[in-house]
Amino acid sequence: MDDDFAEIEAATKRSLRLGFDDMLRARREAEQTPPPPLSLIPQPDLLPGGIARFRCPLGCGWWHDENPGLESSRLILPVGFTRQDLSDALSLNAEASGLALRDRVERAIVQHYRERHPSA
Ligand SMILES: [Zn+2]
Repeated sequence: MDDDFAEIEAATKRSLRLGFDDMLRARREAEQTPPPPLSLIPQPDLLPGGIARFRCPLGCGWWHDENPGLESSRLILPVGFTRQDLSDALSLNAEASGLALRDRVERAIVQHYRERHPSA
């Protein structure tokens, strides 16, 4: 009987220890994970026509519209390009468009803050 109890007690301690180790590991991993990049950009409202409307994060009624579908895009491909070249060029293009859009929206919001919310 005592042996059974000791066995159960040991197993309980092992599982508690394991839980604590897991928590410590998760905490260490969380500390090593970089925080998401800081951005002023709020989630846009998606309007008909493919328009993304970015509203003032302070809710004053101001907004900035973007229409990503209307952006002109030019692919640069080598002579005799392969499917992989095309895929790479499309990925690069999408990334560049995304960065350009983000830059425009950030500039618009910063400009808006300067004009309307200088103390924010
Ligand atoms: Zn505002």
